[in-house]
Amino acid sequence: MPPCDPGDSVRLHIQETLESGCRIGGEKAVSALCADAPAIIGWLESIGVVFSRDENGQAAKRAFGGQSRKRTIYAGASTGKQIVTALIQEARKWECRGLIQRRLGLRFHTALIRDGACYGILCYSEAEKRLIPFYADAVVMATGGQNCLFGKTTGSTLCDGYGAAMLFLQGAALKNLEMIQYHPTSIETPQKRMLVTEAARGEGGRLYYIKDGKRVYFMEEAFGPRGNLMPRDIVSKYVYDALSQVYLDIAFLGENIIRSRLEEVYQLCQDYLGLDVTKESIPVAPSVHFFMGGLWVDERHRTSLKGLYAAGECASLYHGANRLGGNSLLSAIHSARAALSSISEESLPARHPDFSGWIRQQQQSIEKLLLSKSPFSAVYIQNQLAKIMGEDLGIVRTGEKLSQGLESIDYYLSVCDKLIYDSQVSPYQAYSLGPMLTLARAILTCALSRKETRGAHIREDFPERDPSLEKASVIRYNQGKFTVTYEKEE
Ligand SMILES: Cc1cc2nc3c(=O)[nH]c(=O)nc-3n(C[C@H](O)[C@H](O)[C@H](O)COP(=O)(O)OP(=O)(O)OC[C@H]3O[C@@H](n4cnc5c(N)ncnc54)[C@H](O)[C@@H]3O)c2cc1C
Repeated sequence: MPPCDPGDSVRLHIQETLESGCRIGGEKAVSALCADAPAIIGWLESIGVVFSRDENGQAAKRAFGGQSRKRTIYAGASTGKQIVTALIQEARKWECRGLIQRRLGLRFHTALIRDGACYGILCYSEAEKRLIPFYADAVVMATGGQNCLFGKTTGSTLCDGYGAAMLFLQGAALKNLEMIQYHPTSIETPQKRMLVTEAARGEGGRLYYIKDGKRVYFMEEAFGPRGNLMPRDIVSKYVYDALSQVYLDIAFLGENIIRSRLEEVYQLCQDYLGLDVTKESIPVAPSVHFFMGGLWVDERHRTSLKGLYAAGECASLYHGANRLGGNSLLSAIHSARAALSSISEESLPARHPDFSGWIRQQQQSIEKLLLSKSPFSAVYIQNQLAKIMGEDLGIVRTGEKLSQGLESIDYYLSVCDKLIYDSQVSPYQAYSLGPMLTLARAILTCALSRKETRGAHIREDFPERDPSLEKASVIRYNQGKFTVTYEKEE
């Protein structure tokens, strides 16, 4: 277990996580999260992740957005890849022992719910073009963020929010949906937005724009030398306010540091922009990056439906109104551990009810989609959805724009079930539209309802923080009605 940097402590990590989240993250849950970090790092090392070392042989650390100390350990320029590789290897050991079964090419379709309890899930097999039921004593959702609702983001296009959307329609409560983190430094590519890692600013990178031929280091002017590493909501807002092209300069760090510590940024800019970052600055722009909101869970990671748990980015608990840099991978692992320990303590359902009639009905509606001959493209509505969300739910929001967004979404919701879609696209693309539009409606409803500015939720028409809203927003769906309440996390 690596020691903390001087002046750092679990207590400071808790404090900064809560402050970055503008005090709407759960205090008890955040305390457990931060206390678990050293054990999680030890466990990752035990399964083969090799973290970078400093000159004393200790785990090297970097500061990420909102951190006052260098706290985040890393594995060269490929932390994610190293962790995923080690996790896959570990999972294979269990697979060889017959304790887990891997099924590929399936998409979550619906949960098997009866009387507020979950008994398994239905998955759609794209290869077999049919639904496959999986009955289970407990189900853990780990389907990531809601990227596709916003078109191009820094995240995977496989994470479309459909899982959370469908569960919302099936009765699961969602939390803090309006809290969407824009990462201040991304570059545009044809497929998606690529992230210029915060490590670039952690290593000293400086943001600026040009005015009257001179560089304006706007973050440093506003907040002093550590200005470039302010929490992401603040940096994104300043980049937005700059109203001109913003650049990130790392060239002054020198080729040695760049090639040894920021190789990923070097390659990224070479490959996508043809730009040599050891000589030139990087043109950057904010992009949707992380979803603080998602499925409502309690500190044991139970959702509002019995037997259904959620872990990772699809669940909402720790990050409040804005996630502290580096806390996501920590919370993904910690939340899975919390969910598994809850499941091991719960009493299991005796038998599952009979879902066969309902499954037949669902399969018939997929077959109808497969037979469809209409040329109408489901992708058109998906693109419209991304456009509405980008324009009306951007970094800075107003009641007027949000209401406009709601009106447009309502229109597409009213027509999407009546259209017959092109059979060339996967039935998934067609049947996922309705739930995804419903999720978009829920996000806009929460954003319109929170009449204050807090963290990533910046309302031009309500620029102040309202102390009475130091609570999580919770939205529920019942027979076409959306209800928002505000609940204090423990
Ligand atoms: C470019 C980038 C850099 C990042 N850097 C950092 C960092 O340095 N530190 C940090 O802490 N965090 C970082 N994050 C955030 C962090 O990576 C994510 O929050 C984290 O990976 C989420 O893990 P997860 O397991 O919850 O979801 P994911 O890793 O997104 O996995 C979700 C999985 O669910 C699958 N899925 C989705 N929908 C369905 C469906 N309907 N049916 C079946 N499967 C489905 C997806 O295919 C995917 O495999 C970064 C994120 C990005 C995009």
